[in-house]
Amino acid sequence: MRPLYLNQLFASLLGIKGVGPKMSQTFSKLLRGDALLEARRIDLLLHMPHSLIDRSLQPGIAHAPDGGIVTVKVTIDKHMPPPRHNRRVPYRILCHDETDSLTLIFFHAKGGYLERQMPVGEVRYVSGRLERYNGEAQIAHPDHVVSEEDFASLPLIEPVYPLTAGLSSKVVHKTMQVALDDLPVIGEWQDKAWLDKHGWAGFSECLQRVHNPLEVKDVEPIAPARLRLAYDECLASQLALSLVRNSIKKEAGIARRWSGKLAKALTAALPFALTQSQLNSIADIEKDLASPERMLRLVQGDVGSGKTMVALFAAIAVIESGSQTAIMAPTELLARQHLQSIKPLCDAIGVRVTTLTGKDSAGDKKAKLKALKEGDIDLLIGTHALFQGTVEFADLGLAIVDEQHRFGVHQRLMLSSKGQATDLLVMTATPIPRTLVLTYFGDMDVSLLTEKPAGRKPIATRTMSLDRFDELVSGIGRAVQNGAKVYWVCPLVEESDVLDVTSAEDRFASLKNIFGSHVALVHGRMTPDEKKQAMDNFKDGEAQILVATTVIEVGVDVPDATIIVIEHAERFGLAQLHQLRGRVGRGDKASSCILLFKGPLGEVSKARLSIMRETEDGFRIAEEDLRLRGEGDLLGTKQSGMPGFRIAQMEFHQELMEAARDDARLITEKDPGLQSPRGKALRDLLYLFGRDEAILLLKAG
Ligand code: ADP
Ligand code: MG
Repeated sequence: MRPLYLNQLFASLLGIKGVGPKMSQTFSKLLRGDALLEARRIDLLLHMPHSLIDRSLQPGIAHAPDGGIVTVKVTIDKHMPPPRHNRRVPYRILCHDETDSLTLIFFHAKGGYLERQMPVGEVRYVSGRLERYNGEAQIAHPDHVVSEEDFASLPLIEPVYPLTAGLSSKVVHKTMQVALDDLPVIGEWQDKAWLDKHGWAGFSECLQRVHNPLEVKDVEPIAPARLRLAYDECLASQLALSLVRNSIKKEAGIARRWSGKLAKALTAALPFALTQSQLNSIADIEKDLASPERMLRLVQGDVGSGKTMVALFAAIAVIESGSQTAIMAPTELLARQHLQSIKPLCDAIGVRVTTLTGKDSAGDKKAKLKALKEGDIDLLIGTHALFQGTVEFADLGLAIVDEQHRFGVHQRLMLSSKGQATDLLVMTATPIPRTLVLTYFGDMDVSLLTEKPAGRKPIATRTMSLDRFDELVSGIGRAVQNGAKVYWVCPLVEESDVLDVTSAEDRFASLKNIFGSHVALVHGRMTPDEKKQAMDNFKDGEAQILVATTVIEVGVDVPDATIIVIEHAERFGLAQLHQLRGRVGRGDKASSCILLFKGPLGEVSKARLSIMRETEDGFRIAEEDLRLRGEGDLLGTKQSGMPGFRIAQMEFHQELMEAARDDARLITEKDPGLQSPRGKALRDLLYLFGRDEAILLLKAG
């Protein structure tokens, strides 16, 4: 149970002066991303300012930096209300100081209010983001407009927060002060020596400092108070992961024993030699399997690095030791594809494999479930959904989760409860940056596949404007005549006027006009049967062009496809483009990737596409993606942060996350039940940062 003294922090904002039911919902939207989730005081307190108003800085309109937040002292000259019945034209107020003129802009404004607030001829202090359009200085919706008397009573420095429609900086500020005034006394969960080393103050003191900054530096992500809070957040998440790790590991695993005869047979049956990376990963896994602890391992590898083979070697080790293995794919299409590539090998070495999908007839399904329960199936391939139901194994020894990086801690725990001592192997679809690995897989051990199988040719990547569509089509025509197989990827299924995206269906129709029956279509709205039909057509070579949505993103394997066209490449994330591009270059023939874009491109889009041209190294692409997204977000109003984190930001706090991981592992080693005084305080930390699910694990044990 949450300690009573924390209740105050989990009280609703509703009821604080100025926060009625409507305002409370607006806060919910801002703080919890959902109007239906109650906004609590702790959510507000952890809402960080992104900049500040520095009233000591009054450069004058002419000298104000473009896009910066400034305070100017102006004389009001003229009100220009919008024409009647035209709400789209903003209300404008012209004013000036001794350096230049300035226009204040208000959309959907109430004229009467503005006239009272800013009478013509009066002097006002205006604070807000100043921008120039055609040389004309403007501030849209100033954060503050105050008279000279009122200005004197305002703090010189005031934080500015990310907002949402219907919420003003002023209301956030006032509500924040109430929450700060009512802060309960909270124990210290950080190590004293660590705090001293960094010169960090206590949690409450840091909150005060961040929300009532004394100097400009205080709102920077690297200000000491911010660092402390970011570290708290990192530690909460890492501690939760570490508790999960402990609870999975501590249920004794099985020290598996096997002779390696299946691995020998499989190696002999393979038409290629394993890469050194594959061998290393398999060795890591075999060591885990042989140890009495449960395995919790993540295999990270680039597209085409051969993760499936690593999975298969892991599976057969467990199977030879007398247990079963399950492989979970994200879609049925992929489950079937895994079966297709794995089955001949399994047949060759006497491993009994099958899939369980939604497509099985009731009779088939029943027979398979029975065989599974009686141990007559060694390896089962399916989707996640299947493992959430009533599937019973005779003895599930290993669960492999393929191509799914959104497989949360929750699912990990649930899965590990399917079998007595089930080992867990997770494979990510794409390389992800180091910090993210820590953030989401901090509880797991990691093996990296850094090499690609020998003989892979580089993929020639080009960018091309949509204007040159005809040229592209004739090029594709020539390639198809020479026998090439082409993926053609479109971003959306249905036509959307707003986004001006060519839908896969439209593109399919237009390409069919040109290439006739050589074209097939696959997208997410099709039934599994229709998808399979289309994929088979493409695989068997009847269709040489496969128009697809991103359903082909993960795992689809047609080794003799050599060209991929990605339409509206500028709309995709880098990691996604990389993943898509990895659909070609799988055989020994030279391949190419054409990134079709619709100009004009912004700076960030340009940079992204050029990285795609420069490199095929997925690990590098992942890091760049993160960097560019960070910058992209900085341009907007949204703060760049990691999903699920409110304070910690990758660009600034990566090292904190790493330190937190080590700290968390040490804590759970020394005090696995969080019983010591520090342990008790750490439970508070978990509550405050919403990681308290992990506390339930402590009770169970
Ligand atoms: P991914 O890591 O993207 O899941 P896959 O496991 O699907 O990659 O492997 C991609 C392709 O490479 C498959 O056709 C697979 O048979 C082949 N492959 C795997 N390992 C090797 C290897 N060591 N040498 C050559 N080809 C390999
Ligand atoms: Mg794969």
